[in-house]
Amino acid sequence: MEFLTRAGRQRYDELVADAAQGVVCLDFDGVLAPIVDDPSQAHIHPDAADVLVDLAARFRGVAVVTGRPCRQAVTLGDLDAVGRRILEAGQDLQVLGQYGNERWSASSGRVVSPRPPRGLASFVAELPDLLRREGLEDAHLEQKSLAVAVHTRRMADPVGALERLTPVLRKAAARYDLALEPGRMVVEVRAPGMNKGNAVRTLQKELHADAMMFVGDDLGDVDAFEAIIDLRRRGMVGFLVCSGSQEQRALVELADLLVDGPDGVMQLLKQIVADLPPPDADAPGR
Ligand SMILES: [Mg+2]
Repeated sequence: MEFLTRAGRQRYDELVADAAQGVVCLDFDGVLAPIVDDPSQAHIHPDAADVLVDLAARFRGVAVVTGRPCRQAVTLGDLDAVGRRILEAGQDLQVLGQYGNERWSASSGRVVSPRPPRGLASFVAELPDLLRREGLEDAHLEQKSLAVAVHTRRMADPVGALERLTPVLRKAAARYDLALEPGRMVVEVRAPGMNKGNAVRTLQKELHADAMMFVGDDLGDVDAFEAIIDLRRRGMVGFLVCSGSQEQRALVELADLLVDGPDGVMQLLKQIVADLPPPDADAPGR
């Protein structure tokens, strides 16, 4: 492993030593599942199920923290089945969807979701006109219960389109008191007030964790990284991994380790499991 800093190596060692009090947080797209042109065709890495089960047996918590609705992540990741295996081992698997606005856990088996933000329906109704006025009507709209995502990935000039689209959506979203979430060839407009940073802080508090790891690949993960850096300032262990996107400099600059996409993530997670002390040694504190 090539750590980006000397502190990175140390943080890895501390995380491994503190696994029984630690929580592993993993983004879905670009981390557990390769990025694909059509988000509905994403599929989880074939090694992910076994790795998640192994991690859950040894860490205090394992959570998928994603911009996707919980139900989508659970379906695409076959996380129901993974969760059942984790439950059998006496642990739980959590999914925090739509940037933490929604929750699913293997133990509850259901999604808890707030009502859609006020203004979202009106914003969505206005969107086709708005896009047409800007010559962006070819953008792909993805409706979520609490948000709408506008994708430029399949357009003729995805980067140029994204650059034109972002300020237009930002202005319109502000009129409806909605928040803007930029990503890779996508801009999402959603409820304000929640982000992956809050999601991470919630998990840390609920599970009384004193070590947190986050693996992300996109701008939406910066909030989670910053939350963990803040927890680190208060003396907690925090280990940050960027999955394969050199272009997301904002994330790489904060990361302790850069890995090569979902394949690299799986390699890293297997290495962590291999490096953990034997199960009996960390029995107290579970
Ligand atoms: Mg991602």
